[in-house]
Amino acid sequence: MSNLIQYSKNIVGCRIKKEIFIHPKLYKYPELYKAIVLHENKHSDGIGLGDFRLDLFNEELTGHKKEFYKFIFTHPRTLLGFLPLTKIGKYWAFDLQLFIAWVIVFLFGYLIGGNL
Ligand SMILES: [Zn+2]
Repeated sequence: MSNLIQYSKNIVGCRIKKEIFIHPKLYKYPELYKAIVLHENKHSDGIGLGDFRLDLFNEELTGHKKEFYKFIFTHPRTLLGFLPLTKIGKYWAFDLQLFIAWVIVFLFGYLIGGNL
């Protein structure tokens, strides 16, 4: 099933319920574009274990990693998409997985910092 595609400069690709958001310049990387849209289409409309697994392995991006990092490097605003809270289209999107990832990063920083 295909979902409606919308655009946001704050992310590479993201799904909010039934809407898929991609960066407006992503079409310049056709292979990456396909991989991202395929990945976002595989997500469920909510947050489930399947979504967690999908992002953990991210098989769709295998073979497109170089393009992916190049895209982020040339469009640094997409780094906003890696924050737990990002404005995407008309939504303020809160990402629980990213929130947990950041908490872990800060905890590690705190623990390491406390032992220096
Ligand atoms: Zn994903």
